[in-house]
Amino acid sequence: MKNNTKQTLKIYWQHILNYKISGLFIIVCVIGASIIDVIVPLYLKDFFNALASNNAKDIILKNLIFILIIIAGLKLLQWLLWRISDFINADFQSKTMADLNNYCFAYLHKHCFAFFENNFVGSLVKRVQWFVKAFERIFDQIFYSITPLIITFIAISIILFKENIFLGLGIMIWLIIFLTINWFFTKYKFQYDLKRNEAETKVSGLLADSITNHSNVRFFNAYQREINGFTKLIEEVRKLRKFTWNLSNIFTAIQMFLMIVLEIGILYLAIKLWQKNILTIGSFVLIQAYLIQIFNQLWGFWHSLRNIFESLSDAEEMTIILNTPHEIQDIKNAKDLKISFNKIEFEKVFFNYHKTKAVLNNFNLTINPNERMALIGPSGGGKSTIIKLLLRMYDIENGKILIDNQDISQITQESLWKNISLVPQDPILFHRTLMENIRYGKSEASDEEVIEAAKLAHCHEFISKAINSYDTYVGERGIKLSGGERQRVAIARAILRNAPILIFDEATSSLDSESEHFIQDALDKLMQNKIVIVIAHRLSTIKKMDRIIVVDNGEIIEQGSHQELVEKELGIYKKLWELQVGGFIE
Ligand code: ADP
Repeated sequence: MKNNTKQTLKIYWQHILNYKISGLFIIVCVIGASIIDVIVPLYLKDFFNALASNNAKDIILKNLIFILIIIAGLKLLQWLLWRISDFINADFQSKTMADLNNYCFAYLHKHCFAFFENNFVGSLVKRVQWFVKAFERIFDQIFYSITPLIITFIAISIILFKENIFLGLGIMIWLIIFLTINWFFTKYKFQYDLKRNEAETKVSGLLADSITNHSNVRFFNAYQREINGFTKLIEEVRKLRKFTWNLSNIFTAIQMFLMIVLEIGILYLAIKLWQKNILTIGSFVLIQAYLIQIFNQLWGFWHSLRNIFESLSDAEEMTIILNTPHEIQDIKNAKDLKISFNKIEFEKVFFNYHKTKAVLNNFNLTINPNERMALIGPSGGGKSTIIKLLLRMYDIENGKILIDNQDISQITQESLWKNISLVPQDPILFHRTLMENIRYGKSEASDEEVIEAAKLAHCHEFISKAINSYDTYVGERGIKLSGGERQRVAIARAILRNAPILIFDEATSSLDSESEHFIQDALDKLMQNKIVIVIAHRLSTIKKMDRIIVVDNGEIIEQGSHQELVEKELGIYKKLWELQVGGFIE
């Protein structure tokens, strides 16, 4: 926990360094303004002493005006310092926060596939926002609360010591006791703040998960079950909230009491000193002004500490992510993949997901240049895993995956992905226009190229009917496309990308026959002069392939062309084929 706090501050610090001059300026202004706060009561003391003196009225008046002018000058200077610091701070914090935001975004995206599988999107989004917000809160406190407090206390202690040693000592001892209690208490409470945060994160996770599954909730009659689960979690949060808030209440009570003790104690001491002619009327004004300042500052201090600790705990979850090294990284001096003849080899590949159950055990496969290959087999057999490994979504335990004799773990990931077009089973679209979504395949493509690709992929038919044609928004809050339409958008992207390796994961759910026909046609155009790997569920696709590979339990159990396989007596493919032809195909 402590370590994470340090790490959070370290990340903030690294980002502040870019704007250190601004930061320094702010601190200097704040120190200046805080010192003025302590100097002004000294003139107030003179002011009241002058007022109470036995001099002639016109002399007193002259003195008072003179003091007033000095106070006005000091106040004006202070006003200027605060305003300068405000403006510099607006620049300083907005820039640092933008940098932090960009840093989190960029870092997050580089985490591996498994990372995103294991984290809720909603909670990741929240973590980034909290991390950046925490910076703002912490630095507001440091600039406008902690720094003035330290400066004021030091200056007040020095002045009161000069005024009278007992006064100085009294205030100092009290301050030390007060701040020590503050520190330990806030730290004690911090652990519960963290717990509360964890519980709150769980709530967001459950909320996101449950709402994502809203149709399951409905159709499995789980409404009440979900509500019960949620209520239970909320109750946990409620208890933690109440507990931490009550801790604050207890502490506030102690603080207020200590303040009353100081106020009365110091004034009593002052009376005693006045009795001995050590203190003047002006000194009383000085002491009272300082007491008010101390109380104001301390009041702020407690809130500041709480704010800082809370912010640190808010930031902590993101810090952990930022300090987790990216799971899959390019090796040092990795070279770009260069495709010449276009051949893929899996050599003695071993792989498992959670170091328990082996999914691939000594898996070997060679895909020849521009070969078109279908992967088929029972669900859970390992087809997707083979594709994921080729895309380096996961690193293998042992063996090699080679593309044109280059080990994919030794080349840059960017160059690997650049040479592969993937048409996923259930493509997800950005909440952007259809034009932008298709152009995602090739950022520099002109509108004409995008439309050309859309035509080839048979997207043009439904896009031209959409409300705003290519400018129609799709995705989360845009118009909804059917599975078949989304897959055609993904094919259009792949056409634009025109990579030498094409991976197509056929949708398992049945498409309407028009969609299927369109997809098939689009695919035929796309498949030329490429390695094509299709995770196939449809016989129409399979028949066109050069080779069919039947995978089960992570092993190739049969391979050959459609013709070869259907002629094989007792072959598994033959059996599947007959089953499907008999059952579903005309
Ligand atoms: P297929 O694509 O042939 O249906 P998969 O490659 O998806 O098969 O799955 C192969 C095996 O790996 C299955 O036993 C499956 O449960 C397991 N598996 C797949 N993805 C993951 C994952 N992300 N984490 C853990 N196990 C997984």
